[in-house]
Amino acid sequence: MTLHDVSIPDGSNQSLNIAVSSNGVADIGRRITIPARCGIATRLSEGQVLSIVNPSGHQVCDFFAFAADNLTEHLSMAHLHTTLGSIFPVVGDALVSNQRSPLLTITEDTSPGVHDTVIACCDHARYRELGCDGYHDNCADNLRMALIAIGLKAPLIPAPFNIWMNVPVAADGSTSFQPPVSRAGDRISMRAEKEIIAVMSACPQDMTPVNGEGVAPGHLEFIVSNR
Ligand SMILES: [Zn+2]
Repeated sequence: MTLHDVSIPDGSNQSLNIAVSSNGVADIGRRITIPARCGIATRLSEGQVLSIVNPSGHQVCDFFAFAADNLTEHLSMAHLHTTLGSIFPVVGDALVSNQRSPLLTITEDTSPGVHDTVIACCDHARYRELGCDGYHDNCADNLRMALIAIGLKAPLIPAPFNIWMNVPVAADGSTSFQPPVSRAGDRISMRAEKEIIAVMSACPQDMTPVNGEGVAPGHLEFIVSNR
């Protein structure tokens, strides 16, 4: 039996060519654009802060993080739910890995705090399911390509921390895909608790309203700082 290599993208976009550097180390304090529909990886040392900015206010960021010394340790939403006793992380909360170890702590969130930790990232199969015939940019491939662009391979596609994604969970457990309630310029900052590889995808979903109603998926920005 041949195991499928999960690190290989189903298609490609410019995520392969926009790495911050060959090893993912970004210039401190530089405001870096994540082009619409693309993903970028950045390496953070312990104590460094990653700030992600939502210029339009309606753009979701699918966020992933891996321990730099062992990519099979990754940010895990299911483990986070246990740690927090909630599906909504807020400022001060640690975001834990599948080893139940903190990878990041949220230090700032200027948005209303509506983020999603329940829904899997979009992928090739999801767009097929929605009726798309050809290749559609997707967050799973953006993650794969962002890691390839810094010389790494995705060992799996974890469930993301969907920053600014608005998927209300009703009392009966039902969910729905709604436009974000974040505002133009909203920013979330997270401090790395150990050396990590963070991956951000400007979600290219344009077949449901998760990135806003009647607007094209937009770009995001991020800054790495030493504070
Ligand atoms: Zn997506």
